[in-house]
Amino acid sequence: MPVIKKKTEMPKRGASERATDFEEVALGYSAEQALDEARRCLFCKDKPCIKGCPVGVDIPAFIKLITEKKFLEAYLKIKETNYLPAVCGRVCPQEEQCELLCTMGKKFEPVGIGRLERFVSDFAYKEKTSETSLRRNRGRLQNKKVAVIGSGPGGLTAAGELAGAGFAVTIFEALHEAGGVLVYGIPEFRLPKEIVRKEVENLRKTGVDFKYGCVIGKTKTLSQLFSDGYSAVYIGIGAGLPKFLGIPGENLNGVYSANEFLTRINLMKAYRFPEYITPVKKIKNAAVVGGGNVAMDSARCALRLKAENVYNIYRRSREEMPARKEEIINAGEEGVKFNFLLNPVEIIGDEKGFVRAMKCAKMKLGEPDESGRRRPIVIQGEFSMFEVDTVVIAVGAGANPLLPGTVSGLKLNKWGYIEINPETMETSIKNVFAGGDIVTGSATVISAMGAGKKAAGAMIRRLAE
Ligand code: FAD
Ligand code: SF4
Repeated sequence: MPVIKKKTEMPKRGASERATDFEEVALGYSAEQALDEARRCLFCKDKPCIKGCPVGVDIPAFIKLITEKKFLEAYLKIKETNYLPAVCGRVCPQEEQCELLCTMGKKFEPVGIGRLERFVSDFAYKEKTSETSLRRNRGRLQNKKVAVIGSGPGGLTAAGELAGAGFAVTIFEALHEAGGVLVYGIPEFRLPKEIVRKEVENLRKTGVDFKYGCVIGKTKTLSQLFSDGYSAVYIGIGAGLPKFLGIPGENLNGVYSANEFLTRINLMKAYRFPEYITPVKKIKNAAVVGGGNVAMDSARCALRLKAENVYNIYRRSREEMPARKEEIINAGEEGVKFNFLLNPVEIIGDEKGFVRAMKCAKMKLGEPDESGRRRPIVIQGEFSMFEVDTVVIAVGAGANPLLPGTVSGLKLNKWGYIEINPETMETSIKNVFAGGDIVTGSATVISAMGAGKKAAGAMIRRLAE
């Protein structure tokens, strides 16, 4: 059979249509497309792709099942090691993980592993059999309770593993809905919330208890959890503290952190105001500062709120943008206007305290810095102005001190992230484990899931002692 050099293309909605609503952009493969793509796999003996997957999905095995048209079995194969395949198939940066190591990728385009993962997950959901994989191995250790703080992908994975091993698991979540960034950050058009809700419901069916509106460190302390009878705790609280630029004008009306902007829109459904009670400012011209996934999501949300112009402002060039390539392409197709080598120096307000413009210094690129990317350097005296009424700052996030700051003896690094023993994921406090963004800083869904899984394994071993 001749080698098919390119990945089967992902069908997606037309840019002008999709930029006006929050419906999903990518449509997913048909069975024929999935078969075409699966047949590109070489089924390599050494399976290098698996090494690129933080949760160790047996990739060739599930692809083989697709070639045999055993779509449900393929889904169950992934579920053996990954709790959230429908999520990962949509948002994981496969191009930097499994697909980066794919043998096909050495000469041609790698196998579309993520697209195939999405296909079988959607198939299982349509067949309403996604829950058939739930592990009901409860009983043996049920006399022990464990607490999971935070319901992001890391917390959900840890809870699933711990419940599967027979512990009584309670997830304490600060917000009113489970999923972490999957529900408050990543927009509906990339990851429909229904998918996250189904996964949460599946976990609930295995007996995991969810306590919402409970901020550990405020509503309850960590030590109270132990006095309430929990034998061990997993901390998966993410890194959701917004960073700002520290420039004049950031306190003006119309300036948002990406965190607030996206939470209003995604979790609180502000785009359906007044049907939902949280509003978001009507936008004419918006500037979104930053070059990562968060910036792309914010810019594309601003477009969908009917902004006339959405400018993305990034201090390096397109090559250095950390956002996923396909999302940069999607944003450009939808009408986001990219402006590279610019760094905001001032946000200018009107007499009523509302944003009216943003001034940016022009930049050039120097030698690579510690991140490996070329360092942006200010070109003295050269500026660009943007007439905007809304500015969204998406330049990263840090560790929220609400919980770590209230626990004596919990070792933190100089940025406020929790220090752990990388072998056991245990913190400086016995029986308190941690993982995900609160340990590594902002990373990825799958790395948080990998951490949750590893920590759960260590907790299971400890509590069985
Ligand atoms: P989180 O998902 O941050 O969840 C932490 C949870 O803990 C939250 O629900 C929070 O409310 C809760 N919490 C916090 N403090 C407390 C407390 N004291 N008590 C109780 N609960 C608490 N990654 C990708 O792989 N692909 C992408 O396309 C992608 N896009 C992204 C887009 C956006 C807008 C953002 C913000 C991030 C994106 N990421 C992406 C990164 C990814 O979402 C995160 O790395 C991942 O969600 C981290 O998971 P986590 O489990 O560590 O924490
Ligand atoms: Fe298939 Fe690529 Fe994995 Fe080889 S490396 S088994 S080609 S997915």
